[in-house]
Parts: sequence; structure tokens; C-alpha cells
Amino acid sequence: MKYISTRGDQTERPFSAILLEGLAPDGGLYLPTHYPAVDDATLTRWRALSYAQLAFEILSLYIDDIPAADLLALAEKTYTEATYGTQAIVPVRRLEDGLLIEALSNGPTLAFKDMAMQLLGNLFEYELARRGEQLNILGATSGDTGSAAEYAMRGKQGVRVFMLSPFGRMSPFQQAQMFSLQDANIHNLSVQGVFDDCQDIVKAVSNDLEFKRKFKIGTVNSINWARLLAQVVYYFAGYFQVTKANTERVSFAVPSGNFGNVCAGHVARMMGLPIDRLVVATNENDVLDEFFRTGTYRVRGSAETYETSSPSMDISKASNFERFVFDLLGRDGSRVAALFGAGLAKDGGFTITRDEFARIAGFGFASGKSTHADRLNTIRETWQLHADMVDTHTADALKVAREHRVPGVTMIVLETALPAKFAETIQEALGRDPLRPAALEGIEALPKRFTVMPVDTARVKAYITEHCR
Ligand SMILES: *Cc1c(COP(=O)(O)O)cnc(C)c1O
Repeated sequence: MKYISTRGDQTERPFSAILLEGLAPDGGLYLPTHYPAVDDATLTRWRALSYAQLAFEILSLYIDDIPAADLLALAEKTYTEATYGTQAIVPVRRLEDGLLIEALSNGPTLAFKDMAMQLLGNLFEYELARRGEQLNILGATSGDTGSAAEYAMRGKQGVRVFMLSPFGRMSPFQQAQMFSLQDANIHNLSVQGVFDDCQDIVKAVSNDLEFKRKFKIGTVNSINWARLLAQVVYYFAGYFQVTKANTERVSFAVPSGNFGNVCAGHVARMMGLPIDRLVVATNENDVLDEFFRTGTYRVRGSAETYETSSPSMDISKASNFERFVFDLLGRDGSRVAALFGAGLAKDGGFTITRDEFARIAGFGFASGKSTHADRLNTIRETWQLHADMVDTHTADALKVAREHRVPGVTMIVLETALPAKFAETIQEALGRDPLRPAALEGIEALPKRFTVMPVDTARVKAYITEHCR
């Protein structure tokens, strides 16, 4: 299997060449040259597999430059009961007839980013060892992505993480999650500013190309193909849990921000998994819902990007969306380059043609939006009717899922986080504290390891220099 860019560069690269990369050189995203088709006999055979074995089978279709035995070992090391707390890894539970929840939230940071990031940590370690290279991951976080990256990379050979976060602006729980890590290769830099200051420093450091090269600075952003690929697995795993025969179709409702999660569903569907609908659920930041309703993709400015109670979906542009549009437009790289390159830069968005818009249904996509009030209602109702406590992101998807149910088609809502992470909103909805997994009781009291930094790029560079010896 080889990979090409969504913006027309037809250079075919092997998996190991794109594993550690973000954007393609022409500014596009990487996609496989084609989606391997999974036939009926294969689906049947896969039903009997463990999650790790299933992950290995799916990864094998896209990765042919890592020996099979090594790839299997990586999958088995990643998807364990010890890490995810359950043998099923992504257990599905019933809410009511035909409406189910698939938990992607049982990893170390209680959010679905762990599903892919844990594999990425092991793949990075493997590939860096093979090349005899080091990588220093530099990132900024307001809480969630940073902690998933740290838990994935902790203790890994050849990798260091330098994670900037705004001093005093994360919840005590988030702080405890990140700062209690005692691993020598994890560096928490607590910047005396806001999240944007952190992000500006990361950009400034990355724009210093000489420094970037010398210190092998990299990132783990959501456009990484390996992350997306890892996510394809749980669509299959969810499907197998709720169906008995390959003739059954199911729909998935997905809390969406950067379109990484639901894009993996798109890939699964293209491979032949019998998915009826892929329901994209947004919060008040409804860039994606607007597109699927109107065919217009309009990127938002910071004044129009709202801070909501489902914060991991607060995006102004959806970084993985270009991958779907590439497929929607018949893989016309020059048209994608025009829309996402010049179109976004000049007009802040684009509108696809009526014919193109009409094709969306054939890809199974539908969408909807959920607001703070909807979120509170959904959390309350789900608790009262089903004694099931859902987090704010999952609540958004559940609300939109209900609007798209079709008789006879099972709807699976993807649970992307546990309520323990969003205590404030759970309090507002239910007047009580969220449930918390036993292993995380009292983490706020653990010793913390972090370094306070002024908003000063030079100081951050000096810190990196000092710790890269
Ligand atoms: C990242 C995240 C999302 C959004 O996923 P995308 O892949 O960006 O669409 C939804 N819910 C939670 C809890 C997340 O952490």
C-alpha cells in the first residue's frame, strides 16, 4: 500500500515514510491510493477475533513495510485489558432498543484520543529505533490532547515530549492527569499565559527551521494518517458486537470537531463495512453541520469560535475534513487544492456544486447540532431514564443520533469521553459530582512535576536545549 496527497502530488510513499509526518509537501493530507475491500468471508472471519487481532488485520491492509510479526506484537502491546480496563476494549452497552453506546473512553486519559495515540506511541518507538533516530514532540494543550499524547509517549525510547499548557487554567483533574506523570521523557511546561500564547510559542519554535532540524522537533496532530487508521478498527469492533450477520446495517453517531473520528468511519464504510449512516454531531461550533446541510464550508474566525461545555469539539476549521472532500470530489487533487488552498485563503471557505452536494448521501453522511441547553437536557434525561451518565461530547452525539434514527437500523453512539472529565457541567445538569473510575480517585493529591515558564519563546528553546542532551 502506498500513500498520496489530497492536493494532487501523485508521489507514492510507503507507510513508514508518512508515519512521522504531518502535512504532505504540497500542503495536502495523506491518504492511501485506494481502500482495500473487505469481503463477506473476511468479515465473518474477523468476528471471532480479539480487538488486538482485529487491529492487526486492519493495519496489515495499510502497512506493508513493517514485518507482520512485529505489527502483531505492536497491536497486542497496545490494546490490552490492563490499559483499557476491559477485555472488549470498546464495550458496547444498550441504552434502549436500537440505540447503543460504544465506549471509546476507557483508555488512560478517559477520552477517545487514547484509542489511536496509544498505538502511535508504540509505532513511533518502533520506527525511531529502526532508524536510530530521536524525536522531540512539541505541543500546546488546553488539557485533552496533550494528556493523551503524554500517556502515549511516557517511557518510550527515542521520544521526548515538551507540552505547553496555560498556567492555572486547566481543571484540577486535568492538571493532575498531566502533571502527576513522573517519567523522565515527559516535560510539562506551564506557561504564564493563555492557550493561544502556548500555541504561538509552539509556532515560533517550529518556524525556526534550523532549531527544528537540530532538535528533531515534531508533533502528534490529528491529521496524522496512523492515528486515523487506528480509529478505523473500533468501527469494525462495534459493528461485530451488535450484529450477528453481515447483512445487518448499523449507523454511527459521532461527536465531531476536527473530523478525525468520523473520517475513520468513512474509511471503514469505503472498505465495505455495512454502515448505513455516519451522523456528524457538532456543538455550537457548527462548521461541519453547516457543510452537510448546505454544501458551504465556511471556516470561522476566533471571534466566532465559541468556548463550550463540550470543549474538545470547539474548532473553527476541521483539519481532517479535506480527506473526505477528496473522496467526495472523485479524488480530484487539483480541485481539492483550489478549494482548500486558494479558496480558504482568499474567501475563508467554499461552496461545492449542486451535483457534488447530491453525492454526499451516497457516502452515508448526515449531520446535526447540539447546544449547551441540549447537552444538559440529554445528560439529565439519560441519567433519569437509563441511570447512565454520559459526558458532554457524547451527549451532543446522542441528541443528534435521536434525530436520525431509522426503524430497523441500529444506531451506535460513540462515547468519546467519560463524565469524570467534565465535572462542572455534570454538576450543572445533575446537581452531583460525576462518577470517577476507581483508579483515578484522589489523583489531585499526587505529587506534581512541571516547570513554570513566562510567555517567552527564548526561554522555551533554552529549556528544550538543556533537556535534549
Ligand atoms: C477530540 C475529541 C472529539 C472530536 O473528535 P474529532 O476527531 O476532532 O472530530 C470529540 N470528543 C472528545 C472527548 C474529544 O477528545
